[in-house]
Amino acid sequence: MTTSALLPTFARADLSFERGEGSWLFDTRGDAYLDAGGGIAVNSLGHAHPHLVGALVEQAQKVWHVSNLMRIPGGERLAERLVEASFADKVFFVNSGAEANECAIKMARKFHAHGGHPERYRILTFEGAFHGRTLATIAAGGQQKYIDGFGPKVEGFDQVSIGDKAAIEKWIGPESAAFMIEPIMAEGGVRVVNPQTLRHLRELADKHGLMLIFDEVQTGVGRSGRFFAHEKVGVTPDILSVAKGIGGGFPLGACLATEYAARGMTVGTHGTTFGGNPLAMACGNAVLDVVLAPGFLGEVERKALLLKQRLAELRDRHPGVIAEIRGDGLLIGLRLETPNTEFTNAARAEKLLVVPAGDNTVRLLPPLTITDDEIGEVIRRLAAAATRIEEATPRRAAE
Ligand SMILES: *Cc1c(COP(=O)(O)O)cnc(C)c1O
Repeated sequence: MTTSALLPTFARADLSFERGEGSWLFDTRGDAYLDAGGGIAVNSLGHAHPHLVGALVEQAQKVWHVSNLMRIPGGERLAERLVEASFADKVFFVNSGAEANECAIKMARKFHAHGGHPERYRILTFEGAFHGRTLATIAAGGQQKYIDGFGPKVEGFDQVSIGDKAAIEKWIGPESAAFMIEPIMAEGGVRVVNPQTLRHLRELADKHGLMLIFDEVQTGVGRSGRFFAHEKVGVTPDILSVAKGIGGGFPLGACLATEYAARGMTVGTHGTTFGGNPLAMACGNAVLDVVLAPGFLGEVERKALLLKQRLAELRDRHPGVIAEIRGDGLLIGLRLETPNTEFTNAARAEKLLVVPAGDNTVRLLPPLTITDDEIGEVIRRLAAAATRIEEATPRRAAE
């Protein structure tokens, strides 16, 4: 690969795409790749979706940015629609998942300070979590490899193992502010959190006056087959962060909350220059036009089931490569017997894009608009990738 002026923090594939259409990406040589990674759960409506392109171009010709010192009608509309579609009463727009979580964390702490308890600032998170790469969100995520070398870890984040009920209860004390959890731990290996755990956290939060924060940055806006993943479980948070898919590829995130949880966030307590600008709001509204249209989420659920069934067959045919299928909706993890980087490379050789995750998994995060035929093609290419690996390591095929 040629040297680059970019900071080398990413292990990038030597691939560059110049065009996309639906579930497909076309590289500079004109080769077509099937995109089952969706830009890490961002391209919720695939590439160059005509409704999104139209909305962005239309807005671009009017006004791009005015600052949050002015009213932004598109933002008022998008907030209203998010409130209508969820548990929330209030919305704050940002540009990324980490920023959405920063807002959620600040809000949970401010809730208690506003209520006369500034000493209640500690937040409990869970092993395997991922909440972003800012100083506070690496502390929240608790992964040493992301924390090391960046100075003292931001104070006020504790972590326990997700199944450890006793440790969760023992943690609660005079400094406790909130629980923060992803309903499906996506980066951590697509681990679906047990509904009972979420219910337990809700009960404890109610009993002890704590905030329950759901990080739905990856699971939100239709990815799970519901608008938000927690709806399936029937447990409602006080505060929720969302990003990735909500802009369909335009940088957009949001922090949603009940009026009660947001009580401390008064004039001047938080801010952003870019968050919620007219271009982002046009894209967010356009994504909701499609995702909230009658029948859309039902289709996502149907296609997710189809994909999962086909994947179960695939696992049965390639037990030396694929250990387990897990996830929900169109957020699916394949836990592998072989290194996930090897599998990602094999898939890429079959012109299929997948995304590695923790616990030796690869994630499938195709556009929510993927067709049945394309699902068949994903399966064919995954099978070819698995065969490639088996042929490179003949022992495994015989197992
Ligand atoms: C991706 C992700 C984040 C961080 O989002 P950025 O936009 O990269 O800041 C936070 N939480 C979860 C669950 C994520 O999947």
